Amino acid sequence: MEKDLIQLIDYALSCDLISKKDIENSIESLSKMMNIDSFTYVETINSEDIEIVMSRIIDQAEKKNLIQGFSIDERDAFEAKLFDCVMPSPKEVKEKFKLLYLENPTKATNYLYKLSKDVNYIKSRRLEKNIKWIYKGQYGNLELTINLSKPEKDPREIALLRNKPIIQETGKPLCVICKENEQNYYNARMNLRIVPITLGNELWHFQYSPYLYYPEHSIILHDEHRPMKIAHETFTYLFDFVDLFPTYFIGSNADLPIVGGSILNHDHFQGGKHHFPIEFAKDIRDFGKVKNVHVSHLYWPLSTIRLKSEDRFAMQHLASQFLDCWKSYQNEELDIIAETNGVPHQTITPILRKLDGIYEMDIILRNNRTSKEHPDGIFHPHQEVHHIKKENIGLIEAMGLAILPGRLKDELELIEHHLKNKTNLPLELEKHKKWIEEIQSRGSIEINQIFLRDEVSEKFEMVVEHSGVFKQNKKGLNGIHDFILSVIKNSNL
Ligand SMILES: [Zn+2]
Repeated sequence: MEKDLIQLIDYALSCDLISKKDIENSIESLSKMMNIDSFTYVETINSEDIEIVMSRIIDQAEKKNLIQGFSIDERDAFEAKLFDCVMPSPKEVKEKFKLLYLENPTKATNYLYKLSKDVNYIKSRRLEKNIKWIYKGQYGNLELTINLSKPEKDPREIALLRNKPIIQETGKPLCVICKENEQNYYNARMNLRIVPITLGNELWHFQYSPYLYYPEHSIILHDEHRPMKIAHETFTYLFDFVDLFPTYFIGSNADLPIVGGSILNHDHFQGGKHHFPIEFAKDIRDFGKVKNVHVSHLYWPLSTIRLKSEDRFAMQHLASQFLDCWKSYQNEELDIIAETNGVPHQTITPILRKLDGIYEMDIILRNNRTSKEHPDGIFHPHQEVHHIKKENIGLIEAMGLAILPGRLKDELELIEHHLKNKTNLPLELEKHKKWIEEIQSRGSIEINQIFLRDEVSEKFEMVVEHSGVFKQNKKGLNGIHDFILSVIKNSNL
């Protein structure tokens, strides 16, 4: 046991998580955690893989009943606490980030990113398991990921959960992104470190996402647990952010159910260092300059207006006008209806990036109305593609990166086997039945995983097309172009 804890200390020293003067403190907190006598540190020569070392320490903790309930979540929470013993405190991280930021913003983000990986808050090993590919579609490239990084639950855990009474636990943050998660045992966040930033003269916090759907995937959360809201000040926050971190994009999920993300009760944005497919989308119509701001409509499955300018205030003003006009826009022929009994349906998904000093904003128009024919949403993935994806199309997918459920990996393998060997349809493929029959009806084609991935990609392309309010056909194009022209006309008055 001591040997493993010494290896952990050695690892922390090698990653600059602690320095030699911190060793005594680390030993004290580690021995307390593992319920053992204090030990002496001696430098080890052959250090093992930290994942193996940690796993052994956690096994020991389980044996000693220091962990309740065998679950992966509990093991993760315990591991996070072990790392917390060998890393800088939240205060130290905030101070160091601030100092590095004064030198160069990238130095500061690199520091926090590396720290988040080194302490396994970002679970890089698990993320490597994800299956990723690129599909050349009609709108340009799309990116697809089958998400396998979320581990399966242990059957013992499932049994345990079934009998667990629901109680409000004290010390538990109001939601998974509240700032109170920092160095909290709940949600395995003892090793989480966040830093304060100011956007629109308000206090926000910056941190990395443990899921890391793309490089440097970050979350920017408001200091208060307050609901998501897209309004004029949203644009101020977005511009302030890209001015602070010019190499990062930032975007917001919509603030309404069905078209928004999974967390609507805490105001937040997502950012990072990735160039999403939408960035490379071509203009389908160029509207020229409106008071210093270049306006165009993109050839993209979701209805997207692009603004470009060096002048952030002119752009903020025009973006606010697009938002206001969109909220009340109606076009019954295209099923676009702004509200039902006073409940609004329309909002936007905004994205902002800074390229060589020029701001570029994509405004994606959204509507969350449901109908008898489409009870899950008219501008939401329709029934026929639910076997691939039925969740909300939030910011990340609207930008052209599909996050597909882990079950698909096994299902695609089963489909290949079923099609090749003409077996009876296994029960778990029932939801894909129509699709499989359609593939069979095409006659002899070579079935392999590459072929099936292309098929899934085509379905994802449909998923995002369903989410577009104005379709890319004559009626849709006329509709959105008239809408854009009316906003331009108003802003010129
Ligand atoms: Zn919250």
